[in-house]
Amino acid sequence: MILKRFCAENFRNIEKCDISFLPGVNLLYGNNAQGKTNAVEGIYIFARGKSFRAKEDKELLFFGKEGFRIYIEYSDGDGEHTLEYAHYGRERRRRKNGYNLKSAKEMIGSFRAVLFYPDDLGIVKDSPEQRRAFLNVAISQCYGIYVDDYSKYKIALENRNHLLKSASKGNYVDARELESWSRSMAEYAAQIYLRRKDYIKKLELYANAVIRDMSSGEESLSLSYKSDIDGELSDARAIKEKYFEVFTRELDREKIVGTSLYGPHRDDMEILINGISARSFGSQGQQRSAALALKLAEGEVCREISGEYPVYLFDDVLSELDEGRREYVLSEVGKKQIIITTCESDFGKIPAEKIIEVTGGEYRGLEG
Ligand code: ATP
Ligand code: MG
Repeated sequence: MILKRFCAENFRNIEKCDISFLPGVNLLYGNNAQGKTNAVEGIYIFARGKSFRAKEDKELLFFGKEGFRIYIEYSDGDGEHTLEYAHYGRERRRRKNGYNLKSAKEMIGSFRAVLFYPDDLGIVKDSPEQRRAFLNVAISQCYGIYVDDYSKYKIALENRNHLLKSASKGNYVDARELESWSRSMAEYAAQIYLRRKDYIKKLELYANAVIRDMSSGEESLSLSYKSDIDGELSDARAIKEKYFEVFTRELDREKIVGTSLYGPHRDDMEILINGISARSFGSQGQQRSAALALKLAEGEVCREISGEYPVYLFDDVLSELDEGRREYVLSEVGKKQIIITTCESDFGKIPAEKIIEVTGGEYRGLEG
C-alpha cells in the first residue's frame, strides 16, 4: 500500500496543503510546532477512523474557521483509491472513491497504516488500557467484523453498566433485562476474545523475530493474553457460555460497585522478555525494543492478513532510538513506505527518497 498524496484545508495549523509522497522513506523535517505531527494525524485518521490525539473534531479545526477537509490518494493491490473526510458545521462527509460512507467505522480497513509515536514507547510499561487500544486499532484495520463486534459489545456493556449503576444506588433493576445484556455482552465478548487470541499469537511470532534480530539472538519475546476466561477454550459457543457464567457469578458484587468488572474491556496483554515480565523487570532499553518490535510486528501481521504492507508513520520516534535500532528500522521498512517526522538538524543522515520541509503549516518538497 502506497500513500501518494495528502491534502488538507483548515486542518489544525494547515490552511491548505497538497503533499505528495513516494515509495520508500519520506522525511518530514522542521522545527518544533510547525505542523509535522498535524500532517501525520490527518493521514492516520483515514486508517483509525478518528484522530489519535484529539478528543473531538473541534480541536482539528483551524482556529476561527468554519470547517475542515482532509483527503488522501493511495494505491493498493486493487488499484488507485481516494478517501475524503470533511466536517463543516454539523455536516460530516466521508467518501471513498467519491462514494459516501455512512460512518467512521466504514472507513476503517481501506487505507491501512501503522503509527509509532513517542507515547507508544510506553506501551510495555503503561496501563493495560494502552495495550488494549493498540490491539483494537491493529485488529480493526485487518478485520472489519471486529469493528462491528466491538461496537456491539460496547453498547451491551454501556447498557449493563447503566443498570448496575442504578442498582448500586438502591433502585429496582429488572433481572431479565440485566440478563439479556449479559447474554449480549457474552456473545460479542467471545468474538473479541477469539480475534485477540489469534492476533496475539501472530504478533508474537514476528515481534519475537525482531527482538532476536536486534539482540543477535540473546533475547526472546513472548506475549500472553490475559483475559477472564480459560485459555484452553477455542469453541465460540463454549467461550460465550463461559463469559455468561463469569458475568453472572459476581453479579452481587457488581451491583454494589455499579459497573461490569469482567469482560474484554478489562483484558491485558503481558509482554515477556526471556520469560519474565518486561513491564515489571525490563530495562528501559528492553521496553523500548519491545515497543518497536510490536509496531514492526503489527505491520507484518497486517501484511499476512491483508496481503500487503501498510504505510508506516513514525512520528518523532526515530531520534529516540539508538543508531543500531534506527538502522534496523530503515533496513526493515525503508523499502516499503515509511513517513518519518524529525526535527533533528542531522536529518541528512537518514537516506530518504523524499524530504519535505515543514514551516508554519506549509510543506515544501526538496530533492531526496
Ligand atoms: P514537534 O516537533 O514539537 O512535535 P510539530 O511540527 O509536530 O512539532 P504539530 O503538533 O504538528 O507540531 O503542530 C503544532 C502547531 O499546530 C502548534 O503551534 C499548535 O498551536 C498548532 N495547532 C494545533 N491545533 C491547531 C488548530 N486547531 N488550529 C490552528 N493551529 C493549531
Ligand atoms: Mg510533533
